[in-house]
Parts: sequence; C-alpha cells; structure tokens
Amino acid sequence: MPEQAFDKYAILKNYFGFTKFRPGQEELINALLEQQDILAVMPTGAGKSLCYQTPALLLEGLTVVISPLISLMKDQVSGLSSAGIPSAYLNSSLAPDEYYETIANVRNGAYKILYIAPERLKRDDVHLLAGSLGISLLVVDEAHCISQWGHDFRPSYLLINEFIKRLNTRPTIAAFTATATDKVKNDILTTLKLDKPLVLTTGFNRENLYFEVQKPKDKFYALINYLHSHADKSGIVYCATRKTVDELHEALSIKGIAVTRYHAGLEDTERHENQDDFIYDRKPLMIATNAFGMGIDKSNVSFVIHYNMPKNIESYYQEAGRAGRDGSPADCILFYSPRDIRINEFLINNSQSDEVPKDETLIAHNLSLLKAMTYYATSNDCLRSRLLAYFGEQAPSYCGNCSNCNNLFESIDITLPAQKIISCVYRIEQRGRHFGKLMLIDILRGSKNQKVLRDHLNTLSTYGIMPDTSAHRIRMIIDHLVNEGYLLFSGDEYPVLSPSPRSGEIIFEKKSLSMMLPKEVEPQNFAVAQQIVNLQELDQGQMDEALFVKLRELRSRLAKEAHVPSYIIFPDASLRDMSRKKPRTLDQFKDITGVGLVKMGKYGELFTRLIREHSTPES
Ligand code: ADP
Ligand code: MG
Repeated sequence: MPEQAFDKYAILKNYFGFTKFRPGQEELINALLEQQDILAVMPTGAGKSLCYQTPALLLEGLTVVISPLISLMKDQVSGLSSAGIPSAYLNSSLAPDEYYETIANVRNGAYKILYIAPERLKRDDVHLLAGSLGISLLVVDEAHCISQWGHDFRPSYLLINEFIKRLNTRPTIAAFTATATDKVKNDILTTLKLDKPLVLTTGFNRENLYFEVQKPKDKFYALINYLHSHADKSGIVYCATRKTVDELHEALSIKGIAVTRYHAGLEDTERHENQDDFIYDRKPLMIATNAFGMGIDKSNVSFVIHYNMPKNIESYYQEAGRAGRDGSPADCILFYSPRDIRINEFLINNSQSDEVPKDETLIAHNLSLLKAMTYYATSNDCLRSRLLAYFGEQAPSYCGNCSNCNNLFESIDITLPAQKIISCVYRIEQRGRHFGKLMLIDILRGSKNQKVLRDHLNTLSTYGIMPDTSAHRIRMIIDHLVNEGYLLFSGDEYPVLSPSPRSGEIIFEKKSLSMMLPKEVEPQNFAVAQQIVNLQELDQGQMDEALFVKLRELRSRLAKEAHVPSYIIFPDASLRDMSRKKPRTLDQFKDITGVGLVKMGKYGELFTRLIREHSTPES
C-alpha cells in the first residue's frame, strides 16, 4: 500500500476507480470504521464487497472474509490483486505447499484481506493462525448460508462462532447477504451474536435489469430464437434438473453454439473447466442448475434465462441478478409453464439430505414460497413492482422496463377517476374523518361491509361512484395521486389520506391527468420480444462502437497475457465509458469509471494510445 494516508474517498477512487459510493455503502463503511457490527442486506450486484474491502484498507491488521465458494474467492482475489490490494485465500483448491506458503505469508503480514472457506475453520492450523493474529474485521459473506430458512444452508457456516471464540480479541463482525426475509435476518443476528449491529437494507431495485415472463408453447424454440438475436452476448440459462441441463447442452452444441454446462452431477474437474470456459468467455453461454453461480462476479453477463420456474423468489432474484452486474442493460427472462409448479412441488416434497432431516414445517414454508413465485410468473402487474413488493419495498405500479409494462400497460386518461377519488377524500374530511386506502376504496366501490354501514358512510354523495373499477385498479390510481402530490398519505401508525395543497388542481381547475395502467382487454402477442431503450446510455452521450470493438480486442489480449478473465482487466462499463469520453491523456483517463491508480499505471498508456490512434485519421 502506498505510504500516504488515504481516506475512504481516496480509496474508492485510487483503488477501485469509482467516484461515488452506491446507496448504503458509505454508511456501512463508516460503521465498520467505528468498529460497530453490521448486517447488510443488499441485492446481488449492489456492491457488497466494496463495503468491507474499503475499511479493510483503512483498519490496522487483517480482514478475514468467510466466503462459501472457491470460484468466488479466486475471483475476488484476482480482482483485488489487479487493483493493487494484497490478498489471498485459503481453501481446498490450494496444493499443500501453496497452502503453507500462504499461511506463512499471512503470519508475516503480507495481506490486508484473507478469504477462508468455512470448511477450513475446522482445521487446527487455521485456529493456530487465528489465535496469533490481529484480526480487526471478520466478514461473513453470503451470510444467509447460516440459516436453514435460507435457500443455501451450509452447516459449515455454524463453525464460525467457534472460530470467533478462539480469537484473542473479538473482531468487528460484518454479515452480508442478498436474502431479506425476517426469518433469515434473525437467524444471522442470533447465530453470529452480532453486538448492537447496524442493520441496513438497501433498495432491491436494479434499474438496468429488464424483466420478462414468457409462456412459450415450445421452450426450446423460444430459447433458440432469443439466442439468435443475442449471438455475441454472454448469458446463463438455468434449468430445474440436471437432465434438462444435459439435454439442452447437447441440443445447443449440435447447433454449433459455444455452450458449456454446470451441475452437481459432473466431475469436479469438468465443473471447474466449464466454469472457467464461461468466465473467460471461451464459451459465453452457460447452461446450469442452481448449483452454479453463487458469488460469480462475471460482470458482462447480459442475460439470465430461467428455462424452468425456480422454487422461490429469493432464488429467482439472486440468479437473475447475475445479469448486468456492471450496470449495463441486461435481460432477465423467465420461461413459465404450469408443469414447472409440479416439478418444484416434487423437488420440495422430496428434498432430503443427510445434513438436513425432513421437516414438515420447512416443507410447508417452502411450498408457500413456491406459491409466491407462481404468482409472479402469472401476474399481470408490473413485474418489477411485484419483485420489490415481495422484498417489502414500495414501488410505483409501472416501471416501463418489464414485459408486463411494455405489453399490458397503456397510457390511460384518469382525469375522471382522479376527480372522483379526490372528491371522496374531501367529503370524508368534511365529516371530520380520515381513512386509509382500503376504506376509501370500499366507499368508492359502494361496499356494504360492516364498518361502512355502521359509520353511515353509505350516505356520502361519493359512495359507490366507482362500482365497476376493481379495487386493485383504484388502488393504483390512489398511489399515483399520492406519488404526484395530489393527495397526502400520512400518519404514524395508521397512515390516512387527506387533501393536499394540489388537490384543487384536479377538482376545481379540472386539470387532465393520465397514467400508465394495465390494458383492460386480454393482451395478444404476449411473448413478443422487446426492444430495450436504454435511457441511461442515451443520457451519457454517444458511444463510438468501432472504438469499443478495438478496446475490447486490446482488453482480451491483455487478459490472455495475464491469464485472468477479461473483466478483471476492465469491466464492460469501463470500456463503454472510454468509448464515450475518448480520453487521450492519462489525466483524462483517470476519470474513467473503474480506473484506479494501479490500473492507470498498468494500462493507461496502452488504452490512451489506442484511443489517440483511433481518433486521429491517418494521413
Ligand atoms: P455484490 O457482492 O453485492 O453482489 P459486488 O461487490 O460483486 O456485488 O459488486 C458488483 C459490481 O459493482 C462490481 O463489478 C463492482 O466493481 C461494482 N461496484 C461496486 N461499488 C461500486 C461503486 N461505488 N461504483 C461503481 N461500481 C461499483
Ligand atoms: Mg458478493
């Protein structure tokens, strides 16, 4: 590490090449720097690693990261090394001499960050090592693995406590996961015995992801169709069973597609080879079961297709979230057929392993999660809003970047319904009352429920003036009016609706309003593929496509020379930034996203030269 003292902002730019923290990152880093425990729940791709890697560089001593997968550790360590951060890992992939060499280096204080596989925590050498080291921060990555209620329970995660007890001083403990359900959160808090932790859940929304549900008659045909129009892209196709993986893999190979596969039934060597083929883009298409991918940080995955519906939304969102990690637009497509429900029910009812005995409560729990997943696959609502609602997040009813919004929604004049809703709120207020949304909807639809009749609300002049509009639809309009400031929705325990200073615009000035709402007729052509307009890219100016291709070639040459995946050199997001801003000098180059000091020194000259040559026509 350079001698001068860096603060967290300098670390962000100089090591990672970024100028802004993403939501939640700074707060978590601050807490860790103050030695407060944390539990961070952030979606896949949100940038959890940076939250512990930054403090690791600022704190004295070593940061130890418990991480479940060998591939993940390898990836993190090559990424860190390429940014000039000394780090290493201890797992079963190391030969004995490499293993003991790493341990010796750790003792000599050669690293700032050390990744350890949970299974290793059993080993005496690791305990001995731990007892003699100053560990300032202990990170538990993918912390949901500690919980039976999560979707990736790993008994060896239960060894973490034993390990902590053996340390001379208790380090600050940081737990990270993308799984937000309360059961899992509580399990993490209690099992790790977090001490007055900062618990932070950041937004689950990933704006760059396009969500689509297709109900194809012929899934294979639909897949081929998609692959044809995305031939130069890297993607993952998830299947429910090993058998489907093998069949698809064979069928696609016969068609000459560069495809590989991954599931737990393959030999270790083949699994590793296949994973590397994918990561290094030798075979950009991966067909896999859910055994593939936890922690895979391949930043240029531009689509994730689920050939079968997964068994719950947590798994779906985590797997789909492997697309577009560098912030580029990416597709998350689910191929749904009712048969998927049967397959999953079977898998849930027969999920027995030696580690986890059969448990009826757990089975019932898992069946209810499957129901929520099925609801997503068959819903007519905005898909993004459904996902976010599942994770307990409020979201607008229309996102404009999912297949339901694109196919089922249209701009609808809501001037009249808005007038009816707001007048009703006025009438209620005139009687000195205030109600929440459910009651307002009941009144508007003319409900005869107990509470309405008891309070004589059926005598309001606005009672029953929207009898034919569904409660769901009225609710969407109310939410829209609240979001746009035409109504207030406030109150601590039971929030209620009341007129806002802008309500008059609607009922007195008769302002006309429209919003995106689901079409009321059944849609045709449901599965038509959608063209995505990426507003983000339009905003940032034009990309020079020809330059982008050249930059990619340079990157791929450098990656080959260094024997690392290309995204370790630079993610696509950096190359895109370069082909927009066309930095000609090192000074301009340092403003490119993903360019830190080390990468600037290593690659700045090469890339700026290429850009200069590209932009100066030969004469
Ligand atoms: P997670 O573990 O939450 O799934 P990662 O830590 O692997 O996500 O980060 C995902 C991607 O986001 C990485 O490519 C990382 O470099 C990038 N990233 C993280 N923080 C920032 C930031 N502040 N600005 C820009 N990119 C970031
Ligand atoms: Mg991660």
